[in-house]
Amino acid sequence: MSVISGSLIPVLKAPVRKCLRLLGMRRGPVRREPPPPVEPLQLTSFLCNVCGTPNCLPRRRLTREDGHCMDCGCYGRLRSMMYAVTARFSSDEIILARMAPRKDIRGLGCSDWGYADLLAEKFDYVNTFYDHEPQLDLCNVDWSRWAPESFDFITCTDVLEHIEPPIDKTFENMYRLLKPGGAAIITVPATLDPDTREHFPNLDDWEIVTEGEKRVLVNRRSDGTVERFDDLCFHGGEGMTLEFRYFTRQGLIDCVQRAGLRVAEIHEKSLDAYAIPLGSDNFVLVAEKPGGDRIEPDAAQRRSEITEAVR
Ligand SMILES: [Zn+2]
Repeated sequence: MSVISGSLIPVLKAPVRKCLRLLGMRRGPVRREPPPPVEPLQLTSFLCNVCGTPNCLPRRRLTREDGHCMDCGCYGRLRSMMYAVTARFSSDEIILARMAPRKDIRGLGCSDWGYADLLAEKFDYVNTFYDHEPQLDLCNVDWSRWAPESFDFITCTDVLEHIEPPIDKTFENMYRLLKPGGAAIITVPATLDPDTREHFPNLDDWEIVTEGEKRVLVNRRSDGTVERFDDLCFHGGEGMTLEFRYFTRQGLIDCVQRAGLRVAEIHEKSLDAYAIPLGSDNFVLVAEKPGGDRIEPDAAQRRSEITEAVR
């Protein structure tokens, strides 16, 4: 048997609603916010220019550091690097895996990964590392094991911002490692500001110490002044991945030119068909040592036509 008769329910509803409202539990008619619009998932298909595998990814992921190929794992920046390599050494092939081997060309990698094995298949190429064999410290080269003027190309992607100052020494060493006509193929994180920003311009006797949970760079300048930096930026880990500077486009160009290299090419136009994202502040710089013969003019023209065709 019902305790409250049906006729009393409308009478009780109003006071109950009022009580709930006072308790903050219910407030009159519920107003619902419209749900946020759902962005359509724009999928884009592309061909990986490193391994040749067709891929399909959301368009928003096709950035410099994302858009990994499902086969070889290379992402935007690495595809851009290999685009610059095939552009230099092949007159008719953009995809590195399909390029005819050129074992007459000597290449040097600086902590390359992703495409290092393929480069070793295609060229007489050695990858090197700062902290293990084959070891190469670009700012302090051991010339007893690395012969001057022995490389046709050096690949150096997002490495130069991690080398301690003065950075000019590194560019001078790259110049010396290259054969006449050889080229350093370079990317760095960059801005379009006028000047490269050196984070620690007076480094001399320095170390990174741990204070509590923080890592701090302590430097004794040559004049004896001690300075501390606690806003360190490490890329992808700690140790020698410390960022020493933030390049600008012009600052990088100035560096290569001071070392005697010339700007042979700046790749800065994206190629959507290969998910190669490029731009004025996201470019691949090809810095060439003057002298030597490289690519015949007609082959360069043919290459240019192919590139235009896929844009
Ligand atoms: Zn791939």
